[in-house]
Amino acid sequence: MCGIVGYVGPKTAGTFLIDGLRRLEYRGYDSSGIAVLGDDGVALHRAVGRIDNLVSVIGSQSPSGSLGIGHTRWATHGPPTEGNAHPHRGGNGEVVLVHNGVIENFQPLREELVAKGYAFQSSTDSEVIAHLIADALATSPRDSEDAEQRYVDAVQQTANRLRGTYGLAVLFADCPEMLIAARFGSPLVVGVGRGEHFIASDASPLAGHTDRIVYLADHQLAILRPGSLTVLHRDNGKISPDVQMLETETEQVSLDGYDHYMLKEIYEQPDAIRNAMRGRLDDQNATALFGGLNLTPQQLRSVDRIILTGCGTSWHSALVGEYLLEEFARIPVEVEYASELRYRNPPIEPGTLVFGITQSGETADTLAALVETKRKGHRTLAINNVVGSSIAQAADGGVYLHAGPEIGVASTKAYTSQCCTLAMLALYFGRLRHLSYEAGKSYIENLRRLPAAVEQALSCDALVRGIAEKYQSVNTFLYLGRQYNFPTALEGALKLKEISYIHAEGYPAAEMKHGPIALVDQHTPSVFIVPRGTTYEKVLANMEEVKARGGPIIAIACQADPAIDSLADDVVHVPAIPEFLQPIVSVIPLQLLAYHVALMRGCDVDKPRNLAKSVTVE
Ligand code: GLU
Repeated sequence: MCGIVGYVGPKTAGTFLIDGLRRLEYRGYDSSGIAVLGDDGVALHRAVGRIDNLVSVIGSQSPSGSLGIGHTRWATHGPPTEGNAHPHRGGNGEVVLVHNGVIENFQPLREELVAKGYAFQSSTDSEVIAHLIADALATSPRDSEDAEQRYVDAVQQTANRLRGTYGLAVLFADCPEMLIAARFGSPLVVGVGRGEHFIASDASPLAGHTDRIVYLADHQLAILRPGSLTVLHRDNGKISPDVQMLETETEQVSLDGYDHYMLKEIYEQPDAIRNAMRGRLDDQNATALFGGLNLTPQQLRSVDRIILTGCGTSWHSALVGEYLLEEFARIPVEVEYASELRYRNPPIEPGTLVFGITQSGETADTLAALVETKRKGHRTLAINNVVGSSIAQAADGGVYLHAGPEIGVASTKAYTSQCCTLAMLALYFGRLRHLSYEAGKSYIENLRRLPAAVEQALSCDALVRGIAEKYQSVNTFLYLGRQYNFPTALEGALKLKEISYIHAEGYPAAEMKHGPIALVDQHTPSVFIVPRGTTYEKVLANMEEVKARGGPIIAIACQADPAIDSLADDVVHVPAIPEFLQPIVSVIPLQLLAYHVALMRGCDVDKPRNLAKSVTVE
């Protein structure tokens, strides 16, 4: 999924490149590299691991050129070694590039290039692009009048041969004043400065450098020189770049005294939920307000089906949304993994609204699923946290979470903000249909109780740390809940897996006896989410079943619940709130449990192995 940066202008390129890579590290962090073109040719530095390692490798001999490219990688093809780190060279080093994406036909292209005598230095798919460009250059006459056109043609010809996705930044060893960027399926922006231009995977590296930005679209190619920017479209030729003002300065995010971003973000949840609701609760009409849905009253009334799609944690919030929207808005809802939806061809009726849910707004599968349904003529909306993200631009409208930057790879505050936003959407659609004014009023009152309830739930931290101590060495956890808290079980298990590397299964509690109960023994704790509600007694019975088989039980229950106390080995009390909002409260101890267990096992909580914050490859 990786992050890309590029610079051409009067300054030392390396400074922007390193700083930009740090800001993009959330996109991948298994290796990184920069290439800078200076008086002595191309200086290339690469290192395995974090940007700090790259900085150490570069040491004091920081390259002095004023044109360069950089990359922080999340490996798709080839292990995270120095040799596979980007930038990659093509030909004899005359082409140097960084790539974000996946080249699906890299194998036949590689074979073709090897047969022609090109020597590959890496096992990545990306390297074929570099050699293809070099090959295209080799076959085009040098004496052409328009030298720039020769490079552009080489990149364009290469792009035409690629299947898959790419965001590219390319420099040419004999071209000290020009960078080429090209995009298909992987995000890429150009920053327009005074006498300088920047390339980045998203807007964050541009903050402090320029507030003018061009979001490149698919099939576009940009030629960057210090004083000029040309944008070409594969089919339309030269187009005038759509220069927009950056909407927000990237906030500088600090730990504020917390040991990890994840912990900080867990504790930020009361505020994040307040921000998600700010200005969106309409007491007068007992409904919610959304400024950005961009739907006419007619379109709103004609919605008779909703599809919620996302990946990972966002998919879990979609499941919560399904329960909410079906119960309160009485609209049939389907929840789809975006990675499946994008390649399925389900019948979608005209009155269907499709919501893509993604914290970053860059999740490749969610974006693709949304674009595909939009292409078929359906209304698409985004629920996302990052202003100006790719999905925000692709969708017909949407809702921002306003949760503030989420840095920890394991999502916490974005999840609860997504659930809260979906709860407001259920109110909104409910009030357009069946929900009475009185019911709407009481719904709003309950929403308003959420921040304080989450605040109170956070006071379980020390207790949860004790539970984590007890179970930190087990191999498997089960997470079980029903109805609104079935997604909570999935989310709790995912959090633990992501950051502690312990195997965990989330299941609807009643499904346990159809398989997972076979895992229960005295070394396998089961976490039951068992607040008061419609299935309370049923879940108690499931707890009995686990207890009868000697399995340790951790219960997430509402305050003062003697029936639970007698069954569970450990009980974490969370405030009682109406059942439909309980997932937002009940997930808090599960986030803390994952955090403490991971810490005790010596794991890197904010940057767990093999993961990246934003999954920008499919
Ligand atoms: N497919 C390329 C690789 O494995 C790029 C991956 C990325 O986008 O980080 O190196």
